[in-house]
Amino acid sequence: MSKRVLLLGLPPIVLLAIAAALAYVSVEWDEAAADRTAAERLTLYRQTILGEYNKFRYLPYMIARDTRATNVLGLGQTDASANRFLEEMADNAGASLLYVMDRSGTTLAASNWADELSLVGRNYAFRPYFQSAIAGDEGRFFAIGATLGEPGLFLARPTPVSGEPLGVAVVKVDMRGLERAWAEGGETVFATDRNGIIFLSSVADWRYKSLAPVPGPVRAAIDETRQYATQPLTPLTNTADPAAEVLTIDGRAFRHTVADVGLLDWQLHFLVPVEAARQTVWPIWAGAIGLSLLYIVALLMLRGRALRRASAVLLQESAGLRELNRRLTDEVEERKRVEAELIKAQEGLARSNRLAAVGQMSAAVAHELNQPLAALRMFVAGTRKFLQKQDLGAARDNLDEIESLQERMAALTQELKRFARPSESRIERIDLRDSLKAVEKIARPRFDETGVSLSMDLPDEALTLETARLRVEQILLNLLRNGAEAAGQAHEQSGGGTVHVSARQDGAAVRISVSDNGVGVPEELRERIFDPFFTTKLSSGGLGLGLSISGRIADDLGGSLEVSSNPQGGATFLLRLPGGTGQRPPAGVSGVREPEPAE
Ligand code: ADP
Repeated sequence: MSKRVLLLGLPPIVLLAIAAALAYVSVEWDEAAADRTAAERLTLYRQTILGEYNKFRYLPYMIARDTRATNVLGLGQTDASANRFLEEMADNAGASLLYVMDRSGTTLAASNWADELSLVGRNYAFRPYFQSAIAGDEGRFFAIGATLGEPGLFLARPTPVSGEPLGVAVVKVDMRGLERAWAEGGETVFATDRNGIIFLSSVADWRYKSLAPVPGPVRAAIDETRQYATQPLTPLTNTADPAAEVLTIDGRAFRHTVADVGLLDWQLHFLVPVEAARQTVWPIWAGAIGLSLLYIVALLMLRGRALRRASAVLLQESAGLRELNRRLTDEVEERKRVEAELIKAQEGLARSNRLAAVGQMSAAVAHELNQPLAALRMFVAGTRKFLQKQDLGAARDNLDEIESLQERMAALTQELKRFARPSESRIERIDLRDSLKAVEKIARPRFDETGVSLSMDLPDEALTLETARLRVEQILLNLLRNGAEAAGQAHEQSGGGTVHVSARQDGAAVRISVSDNGVGVPEELRERIFDPFFTTKLSSGGLGLGLSISGRIADDLGGSLEVSSNPQGGATFLLRLPGGTGQRPPAGVSGVREPEPAE
């Protein structure tokens, strides 16, 4: 079980367990209290019954001794003065009936002589009270009146009070006042006779019912005395034990307390509804359940608050994240902007670099040109002197020198022009094998000069490119020349200088490698050889522009030019050119340009 469920469930469970224990104890207490109250009430009601009995018990005795009443026995018939006497006595004593019977059980005088249903002349010899009294005892009997149908306690005495009885004096006590008092007190009380028949009850419906089923012989005996007239005496409960602690009547359970009245085997019964006897149970349960619910609600509310707080923190955090995200987006935007500015600046820098290069180159060119110019001046002056001396041979030699100087100067200016103004950039579909063959032709004299051998490995199928043919050829020529020169140096020392060219289709692109077995490029110079005016051939008239121009053209055509060292010595230049159209137009050039005049 998780800690949270335990925290939520355990206190209510403990609370309910305590409530159960309390409820049990309280039921015990309540029932004990109810039983005590019942016993007290029963004692009181018993007193009132006995009080009523005691109030009237001597009245028949008085009547039995009074000749004003008993004279009828001598007369053997009713008598007006006796009737009036009884009437007056009944009124004064509060008895419901007073009457005198002869020894055969026939009423000779009665207090209700004047009523329509007068007892006078009627015979009640079947009543047990008469039979007891005529036998010389005190007669006591509760019954429903045989004539008037009203219930009452019949008390009888023989008359004369001593000696052979000649008749019987009877008082009938109406006890319904007691019932009314019980009912008005809101209590459930009833009295049963020795047979368990309810004859007085605060609940009218229960009257003349039996607490337990009445056995047949008992029923027959009752009928003989006409005690309860024609009442069916149906059982009120099915209980086998009329003294049971709990009685169920009409589906309702009652706590049942019984007390003997001490008169005629009567019993008084006090009933309290079971739920009323357990009334403190409900507040205990309600309190416990209420407290449990309160606890759970409070706990859930606290939890809800904690959750709300947590979600507020989450909200705050997500707001923080959003803010962070926004800042990042801003930064990305800013970075893009700066990048664009940088590219712009770079382009500007490239332009100014080129300008600076032009400036640098101008200085180099000026320097380069000054030497041959000075030499030219010398040779021209010398030639003049040789011509004056008619030394034509020496003059011719000088002219040769002049011519070579001129050639060098022309080459220099040509390079300068190329650098400042790229050659034709018209894009056309070419077969690179043709270009390589054309370049080979141009470079051939240089190879012959150096004694370096040139081999080419070209595929059988066309190497088609859409590119600026003249510019590609310019690169290739540069690479072949450099190769020839590098291998030439080695050749001078040990011979066997070679340059090998191979070209291959590589996807849509074409890769051309120019490999020699010359001096190679030291690691530390790899980057620098592509710088303008970097040369190791100053002495032999190198300008240091070839690779820088070639690199730039390759770049402009969307390709690349790289150098690497051969394992067996020498350098390999790898030129990669994209095959299709779509390469970016050469820098500083837009669209198609007219071809420059041939060199
Ligand atoms: P130049 O040939 O006029 O010096 P380049 O720009 O063509 O100018 O070459 C720059 C330098 O690169 C050369 O001076 C040389 O030192 C080096 N270089 C170029 N090609 C090769 C090669 N095939 N082998 C060794 N070094 C080379």
